[in-house]
Amino acid sequence: MNKLHGGISASEGIAIGQAYVVTKKYLTIPKHILFENQLSSEYQRYLSAVDAVSNQLLTLHDSTSILAAQAELVRDDSILMQVKLAIEQKRSNAELAVYEIYQDYLALLEQSEDAYLKERATDIIEVRDLLLSHLQGVLFNPFENLTRPSIIIAEDLSPSETLTIPMNLIKGLILGQGSSNSHIALIAKSLEIPAIVAAKELLPQFTNGEELILDAYETDIIQNPTTNQKEKYQTKLREFLVLKEEDANLTSLPVITLRGKPIKLSGNAMNLEEVTKLRQIGCQHIGLFRSEFLYLNRNNLPSEQEQYQAYKDILLLADGEVTIRTLDIGGDKPLPYYPLPAENNPFLGYRGIRVFLDREELWKPQLRALLKASVHGNLRILFPMITDVNELILAKQMLAMCKEELIHEGVSVSSKIPIGIMIETPAAVLDADVLAKHCDFFSIGTNDLTQYLFIIDRTNPFVGNRYGLLPDALQSALSMTLKAGKENHIPVSICGELAGNESAINALLTLGFEEFSVPITRFNPIKRCIHKHP
Ligand code: PEP
Ligand code: MG
Repeated sequence: MNKLHGGISASEGIAIGQAYVVTKKYLTIPKHILFENQLSSEYQRYLSAVDAVSNQLLTLHDSTSILAAQAELVRDDSILMQVKLAIEQKRSNAELAVYEIYQDYLALLEQSEDAYLKERATDIIEVRDLLLSHLQGVLFNPFENLTRPSIIIAEDLSPSETLTIPMNLIKGLILGQGSSNSHIALIAKSLEIPAIVAAKELLPQFTNGEELILDAYETDIIQNPTTNQKEKYQTKLREFLVLKEEDANLTSLPVITLRGKPIKLSGNAMNLEEVTKLRQIGCQHIGLFRSEFLYLNRNNLPSEQEQYQAYKDILLLADGEVTIRTLDIGGDKPLPYYPLPAENNPFLGYRGIRVFLDREELWKPQLRALLKASVHGNLRILFPMITDVNELILAKQMLAMCKEELIHEGVSVSSKIPIGIMIETPAAVLDADVLAKHCDFFSIGTNDLTQYLFIIDRTNPFVGNRYGLLPDALQSALSMTLKAGKENHIPVSICGELAGNESAINALLTLGFEEFSVPITRFNPIKRCIHKHP
């Protein structure tokens, strides 16, 4: 047995199971000399791979420059000619010809001083590997050997990669990258998967298939545990389950402080199952529905009809208000089938409301679907990443346009849908007084707000945990927002991870906050803390 300690707890819990180490698969290049009569069919085999890869790239999405440029690279005339010559004159098989020719291009780019050309190296590698996988009939799936419930160990996983793994096969997660506020951490919490992130230095020590105990409360990992250790952790696990059961007894009680002051405690959700579970534990309102998760784990944008059905189901299921946030992609939430231009600083770039408002194919189906669904419940619409009042005005204009269109089509729409914004940028905090005059509620996203206030990338383990839980500048930002909300008579809630933290909730209540929205696993623990708050 060997005990390791490190990383950051992203989702508390204990898991005992086998390690499944995700490794990047490297393609091997077969080499053989062709006979004269094989040359033409080998070139045809290469051309078929070119067709397949280029079609794949173009059908993924045709309005971004990256994939279109990659598709061009696949069909580049001079590359086609060089591969043809290598096959016909050197009698190389197609894999070898492709590999060597793309390698020559890479070598040229590496010598270049031009930053743009250097960046093109990534495209060349991607295109080369796509062609090689097609030629060999190999498709990358890092989870192909995952057949039994395991603790997944990987350098990094995107939300969409995580969501493609069958849930019954993930017992725990250990990632090299990430931080407690990264989206992968939110997913782990939402799925109640014990997870340690930012454990880069531990990764080389794991072996595929070895038995592990993952204690995400203490960020301890035990390799090849003894029977005694397994029993000890099974007991610990049972104790936590008992505590969880005790918390469940709170279900029928109202959310009030010790002195009887009512607090509005809502739940964060990203799918229908979570809305169902929240309802089962007595949570009346959905304070934040992250709609982008409806867009993940599929191959294309959900249609207006699909979205309408999803929002309608959620509204019909929930007891009280349902606050649905419009699509918030970019940053650490890419949509694999909808690539956005490559950026040096994605968190400072094209994300959230910026992408949404620019692209009719995104805003129109979603806003129309939300409006159509509004008659089925108590809907509130929330716009993310607002930095400027004009963005809010534009978003509201688009919503009004969709509403007019629907009414013209004879579709009923609720006459009063409260419109709110996420306060998650310093600009929104500073302008909160003006913004409050144009919307009906604020929801503070402390995950992004902390990132942008302190200039700490929420996914970067080196800076993510540099400051305390509630540093002074964050407290000031929260108080300023609350004050602006109160002065303009609009409610202000906190829906970032901070609201679900037992060590922070007292301070937030003392600051005067009366509304919170928390992940499902934090609902009962936070309710217990509120009950004890004087
Ligand atoms: C936040 O930023 O605090 C938030 C709630 O939104 P997300 O974590 O989805 O960015
Ligand atoms: Mg956010």
